[in-house]
Amino acid sequence: MLKIAYHPIYKHHLPDGHRFPMSKYDLLPKQLLYEGTCEEDNFFTPDFPDQDHILRVHTQEYYDDLFNLTLNPRAARKIGFPLSKELVDREVIIADGTIKGCVFSLENGISMNIAGGTHHAYTGHGEAFCLFNDQAIGARYLQHKKLANKILIVDLDVHQGNGTAEIFQNDDSVFTFSVHGKNNYPFKKEVSDLDIALDDHTEDEAYLSVLKETLPKLINQQKPDFIFYLSGVDIIKTDKLGKLGLSVQGCKQRDELVLETCHNMQIPVQCSMGGGYSPDLNTIVNAHANTYRLAQEIYF
Ligand SMILES: [Zn+2]
Repeated sequence: MLKIAYHPIYKHHLPDGHRFPMSKYDLLPKQLLYEGTCEEDNFFTPDFPDQDHILRVHTQEYYDDLFNLTLNPRAARKIGFPLSKELVDREVIIADGTIKGCVFSLENGISMNIAGGTHHAYTGHGEAFCLFNDQAIGARYLQHKKLANKILIVDLDVHQGNGTAEIFQNDDSVFTFSVHGKNNYPFKKEVSDLDIALDDHTEDEAYLSVLKETLPKLINQQKPDFIFYLSGVDIIKTDKLGKLGLSVQGCKQRDELVLETCHNMQIPVQCSMGGGYSPDLNTIVNAHANTYRLAQEIYF
């Protein structure tokens, strides 16, 4: 059965006028239930993880600063959310959704998290709405428990996975792969193990052919025993932050390519959802829902 991490805290209340579309975390599970893609049984509720899991990625100082709300104002501004205890709790609970999802992926081939993909979180600081790096935490968890050795992170959010790249920069056991908009945030990019930076307005065909050429080859070379997929839908042309030009259908084909590849090659995959900032919330929810629809079609 497809297991999906979701906790009501995922939809954190932000001050009016904040530009982050927090309501997608509430609407997506409702949509999946309404249309019959998922039933209540598909969802599981993550909780507070053991702090050791977080500290395999993040520094004690950064962790303490977040939990004690003592982060300096400059570092807090970089994150872009008004920091609160609930927001910090939310992010560790999301990380737990990814940790527990990893175990479900080993059992079922795939699992999802209705949040996460917080790839701008570095070892010792957060950026761009990311406090803790959920998939990095999941990767280190799997290795610590000896459930996986070689891990591949496939980050197809429009923004480069700069935090993920930094966390694993000296770690050959985790291969970081990011396909992103060349002119999108972050403007000073980190070096992933493989970066593909695309021009503004790149459309479906060009995008999909790059991915088709790269991903299976990469898996054959690296031979990962576990894959993390960051399926941000901010590659769609209507996205307010992204500069690429994919259609919703092209974005779905991207997901299909990744999930079919993982399925055919029998490598467990955990998906976190990442960004999506189209002005119409329906576009965002529908594009994210496609990832779940495909997971059900391909795996179950
Ligand atoms: Zn993004």
